Amino acid sequence: MTDVADRKRRAIDAIDDHAADIVEFAESVEAEPELGFKETETTKKVVAELEGMGLDVEENIAVTGAKARLNADTTAETNGNDEFVVAVLGELDALVNPAHPKANPETGACHACGHHAQLANLVGAAYGLTAAGVVDNLAGAIDFVAVPAEEYLDLGYRRQLVESGDVEFLGGKQELIRRGHFEDVDCAMMIHAGSDTPERVVTSDFSSNGFVGKFVTYEGKESHAGAAPEEGVNALNAAMLGMNAVHANRETFADDDHVRVHPIVTNGGDGVNVVPSDVQMESYVRASTIDAVNDANEKTNRALESGAMAVGANVEIEDYPGYMPLRTDETMVSAYDANVAEILGDDALTPGKPHLTGSTDMGDVTQILPGIHPYVGGFSGAVHARDFEVVDEEMAYVIPAKLTAMLVIDLLSDPEKQAEIRAAKAEKRSADEYLEVVRGMRETVVGEYKE
Ligand SMILES: [Zn+2]
Repeated sequence: MTDVADRKRRAIDAIDDHAADIVEFAESVEAEPELGFKETETTKKVVAELEGMGLDVEENIAVTGAKARLNADTTAETNGNDEFVVAVLGELDALVNPAHPKANPETGACHACGHHAQLANLVGAAYGLTAAGVVDNLAGAIDFVAVPAEEYLDLGYRRQLVESGDVEFLGGKQELIRRGHFEDVDCAMMIHAGSDTPERVVTSDFSSNGFVGKFVTYEGKESHAGAAPEEGVNALNAAMLGMNAVHANRETFADDDHVRVHPIVTNGGDGVNVVPSDVQMESYVRASTIDAVNDANEKTNRALESGAMAVGANVEIEDYPGYMPLRTDETMVSAYDANVAEILGDDALTPGKPHLTGSTDMGDVTQILPGIHPYVGGFSGAVHARDFEVVDEEMAYVIPAKLTAMLVIDLLSDPEKQAEIRAAKAEKRSADEYLEVVRGMRETVVGEYKE
């Protein structure tokens, strides 16, 4: 048995030994869902697991969240290189869907995106990698990072955190980048639950959209809706025209850019017999590249403003950086896929390289670091929907932990792969360049047409 194969065998055995603990941990997280930047109990559960393995844990790294570093072997030769650092991430937060059977009755929070399975992957991989003999004589380190706030929601609360200076960004990984948590890291990985994917399959090679998030306020003038509409300025009409103007721009979006603009009205008026004077909307503007996001966003803002102009209302559009497009790293994908083929067989791999039109702040991490974000099976129902559930505990919770541990072993054992990943990292933005791009997306557009 080769050295690498022996290390993998030890890690897998340790994960199998702890399979019941991993499942129990995942179910405990699932039973107590918490929204982003509020994941205090979930953080405590991860901390307890990592501390139980003898790791030193840094807590509340971005309001909530935790991080622990496992130095593979401080006595191992680094051949003059800095030690190679791999970050393994797991997302702490739930989302809101009160219709989900496991939703918290007060907050509506539920793990309908399977983030509890990501934490099982994180903790399970840590069981494997801290086991005896797995990383001995390997130079390098592994950061286990429990990341807050991936779902881009509950934004009233998050904007308060921005105003109070507790965070600058609305997403947890963006905030961790800003705080320097990826500064000495070479690459990053996590897993995600596949949507409606009960089978034992894995999609590791894909790209995804980035986006800008926006809050839109149309200000009109109240008046009696029956007796004197001519005295009012109808902010709902401004919003409807703005939305239709967005639709009129859709034919200008290039197919390859995968643009998605999906506004909702969050307040359409206060009373049916009053001309609406305060109408609020939210939207994302998504696309496959940062340039395409910025282009579609400019058109969207122009269109939204036109609704205000048409009826003589005012409009304020507040843009916040959403998440950046995700790009997967070839070296990591091919090593990951080889491990998938070994454990689950060749048929388990999704062929091709799809572009997914959703978004994740793992995209932000992959703007500065080589990374992967494989979708794994074991779940039925669509992610975020009421029928989303784990149907194969071993596939959802235990097998990904093995795949993660195996990839970490591959990377720490192979100087050639490390060199490839470092070369790929050198092609990416620095954290400062990344921060300049996302800060450039924060913008307030004001159109004043009210007399
Ligand atoms: Zn998710």
